[in-house]
Amino acid sequence: MSHDIVIADKPKDECGVFGIWGPGENVSRLTYFGLHALQHRGQESAGIAVTDGKQINVHKGMGLVMEVFNDTILNNLNGSAAVGHVRYSPTGSNSLINAQPLVFRCRRGSAAFAHNGNLVNAAQMEEQLAEMGVLFQSTSDTEIFANLVARYGEEGIVDAVTKAVSHIRGAYSIVMMTQNKLIGIRDPYGVRPLCLGRLNEAYVLASETCALGIVGAKFVRFIEPGEMVVINSSGLESFKIGQEERQGMCIFEYVYLARPDSTLDAGNVAQIRMECGRQLARETDVEADMVIPVPDSGNSAALGYSQAKGIPFMSGLIKNRYVGRTFIQPSQKMRDLGVKLKLHPVREILQGQRVILVDDSIVRGTTSKKIVQLVRDAGAREVHMMVSSPPIQNSCYYGIDTGKREELIAGRIGVDDICRHIGADSLHYLSVPGLIQAVGLPEKKMCTGCFTGDYPAGIPEKEDEDKNMFEEGW
Ligand code: SF4
Repeated sequence: MSHDIVIADKPKDECGVFGIWGPGENVSRLTYFGLHALQHRGQESAGIAVTDGKQINVHKGMGLVMEVFNDTILNNLNGSAAVGHVRYSPTGSNSLINAQPLVFRCRRGSAAFAHNGNLVNAAQMEEQLAEMGVLFQSTSDTEIFANLVARYGEEGIVDAVTKAVSHIRGAYSIVMMTQNKLIGIRDPYGVRPLCLGRLNEAYVLASETCALGIVGAKFVRFIEPGEMVVINSSGLESFKIGQEERQGMCIFEYVYLARPDSTLDAGNVAQIRMECGRQLARETDVEADMVIPVPDSGNSAALGYSQAKGIPFMSGLIKNRYVGRTFIQPSQKMRDLGVKLKLHPVREILQGQRVILVDDSIVRGTTSKKIVQLVRDAGAREVHMMVSSPPIQNSCYYGIDTGKREELIAGRIGVDDICRHIGADSLHYLSVPGLIQAVGLPEKKMCTGCFTGDYPAGIPEKEDEDKNMFEEGW
């Protein structure tokens, strides 16, 4: 998966986190590699904070990991533990001030915070803290959590974090670091993923297992929903920081967000996507000559669909991997050209054929429409669109930028109208029960909010609530 022009019409993950406790290891370079593996979770800023036991140094900047760091910067980040972060920023907040890790100093010392997820009571907490005189530098929820930790700092880091999380509600997988401890926290619903690995004597925490593999770490286990792990020179200790009967691992991680080579709580992502394709095949009956994926996000589901139906899998769309982001972003005209620049149909394969086109999701419908047209222009006789997830009808409040409900095509119109809009001969979505069955976790352990409107951690009191009280002026 890559977040570029072809999939501009896809929900955007808002962060990836990485941490390592590794005295004797080159922690900044390992974190750099870990962030490379998590780059699909955020491309707008990257940062690494390192502790040498006395102080925390941080470097962060706007851009991809390889644009923010170079040898000299990494060589100057020396220490025994590190925390890293990649971020995608929702519209209007992509400034360096929101780049993470956020590093704060308080009476007990310094701490670095890297957060994936969104709090649903951020506005209330920010208001309460502001009334107490707290100043905010960024617009990120992470700063609220950091301020709460600082507030209870006198009680030691374990108690401070435990008390801080009792005030917040929503999705948070956090990797944080004091001068002499690395800490991993997963919210009681377990919305966003967080895993633990070992590299020799070192401990590694990461959003996805693909970041363990790249640094040579072995997967140990997932951090449990409502668990905090504290790692220092004495080893690892686990604490319970909350428990919810209803859990809510984001089901969309399996559909699109996570990298296919990662394993999440329910299993390997590529295999689950193939199963989504097989399930879609069981639920639909369309005569066709070939199955082609929208690369890369539709690859695994298309393969599963093809195998289940016995219809040949063909590469009818070829992705150009070398179109730079800056080249295709400047104007609407260029964005409109984007699909053609990025995807090219193979006329010799598509000519005169009845095609099943498989993609993982439709958000606004704009890109799907262009791709269907591309396939038709290349001579396809029929184009049947298969989507390996249900219609996205609702916004996400837990750290994924789906856009607002009115921007979601399935939030406004029904399947038949979407089919007409994208110009397909037929359109079929995987059912909600079909998706849950393909993922294989019990329904009460997953969030399906954007498909069903059922949000395990609730939603903000006012749907449009934003933490913008400072923008009204004095
Ligand atoms: S609302 Fe959708 S994208 Fe957001 S956490 Fe739930 S399943 Fe994931």
